[in-house]
Amino acid sequence: MSKEKILKNDQKYIWHPLTQHKNAAEPLAISHASGNYLFDFDGNKYFDGISSWYTCSYGHTNPKLTTALKNQVDQLHHVVFAGMTHEPAAMLSEKLIAILPNNQQKLFFSENGSTSVEIALKMAFQYHFNQGEKRNVVVALDNGFHGDTFGAMSASSLSVYNGPFEDFFIDVIRIPAPTKDNLEQILQGVTSILEEHEVSSFIYEPLVQGAAAMQLNDAESLCQVINKFQQHGVIAIADEVMTGFGKTGTNFASDQIGAKPDIICLSKALTGGIMPMAITSCTQKIFDAFYDEQLAKGLFHGHTYSGNPLGCVVASAAIDLLTSSDIQKRIQEISNWNKDFANQIENHHKVADVRSIGVILAIDLAIEMERYGNKRNEIFQWFWKQGMFLRPLGKTIYIVPPFTSTKEEMNDVYILLLKFLTEFN
Ligand SMILES: *Cc1c(COP(=O)(O)O)cnc(C)c1O
Repeated sequence: MSKEKILKNDQKYIWHPLTQHKNAAEPLAISHASGNYLFDFDGNKYFDGISSWYTCSYGHTNPKLTTALKNQVDQLHHVVFAGMTHEPAAMLSEKLIAILPNNQQKLFFSENGSTSVEIALKMAFQYHFNQGEKRNVVVALDNGFHGDTFGAMSASSLSVYNGPFEDFFIDVIRIPAPTKDNLEQILQGVTSILEEHEVSSFIYEPLVQGAAAMQLNDAESLCQVINKFQQHGVIAIADEVMTGFGKTGTNFASDQIGAKPDIICLSKALTGGIMPMAITSCTQKIFDAFYDEQLAKGLFHGHTYSGNPLGCVVASAAIDLLTSSDIQKRIQEISNWNKDFANQIENHHKVADVRSIGVILAIDLAIEMERYGNKRNEIFQWFWKQGMFLRPLGKTIYIVPPFTSTKEEMNDVYILLLKFLTEFN
């Protein structure tokens, strides 16, 4: 198909995510992707500065992942996962449990981050219900993001986009993201929440709140908040859909926090961006609360594509890549290069704040603007013209580059960011 025909069909038939079609710019047609680059129909290439929403951490069309997919394609595409099982799921489970925080024992499969969160919330509600307790409140962090289905949306911070749905949300109480400065106050707040409400679960994005423009929370303070909730029987849910699989410098952000979650939500880089897949992992304690003679105590939740074999084989191959010494070394190198660059621009007059953790680097510009407003679009366009794909969030520019990025490529990224700071007004 020609680029013109693609765009014509797109305009005629397609309703894009997160888009107001009345004033949206024409979408960019991508012809193919390879390594750390996207290619358009005119032969231009663009460095994928955000790993296509944190999925393609091993670069696009990574040969190891492609081979795993090809080897599976003639064996088994899909089969019902209720009452049946297969090698790809058995293989992936062993590999994933081996790298997850060691209290995680059971894996529940679905297809996207939102459903992994939905399942986590339901597990927590029913965990209490099965033990004769009705706990109906979820506690979440201010400015969190957990997805777009109802439970996940309820737990996410209120935004202008949620207006039509607010009346239908589940009961959520929000607390500020813990820092060293507000910890005492938060712990007091949590004490009164626990006195006044029947709290089922506490959901949090460990270390980094992605959609809040890469805000960092303090590991030690968060640990104390999690401990406090767990002491009161509240289920701790770590939403690692974004932070999972190496992005914060460790396999999981929870590895850097003393308190271990009861449930972990995973998706995005789980399959290295090849197949849509998600997993909600949990401890034996959670699983055991559903294990009973009574049928109704089971978790009656299921998605048609649960445990899809093609997703499982690429996820296994992605874990092999993640745990390889080459990738582990590069994650540390990118983390260090990011830190050096952050130090270099810290005092730049157009930089209000710069922060980095693992491969994530975020720069708050010293200007005010709307989250998806015109200025933000100009910034997007500026980087696109210079050959880099970024999605600024309001005045925050951030990168989450693939782990396969080389020193030369990262240098080019930093040079471009500096050029932007110099030229953009
Ligand atoms: C992206 C994201 C989700 C939602 O995942 P989808 O696959 O888009 O439904 C949930 N939580 C976090 C932290 C995310 O970054």
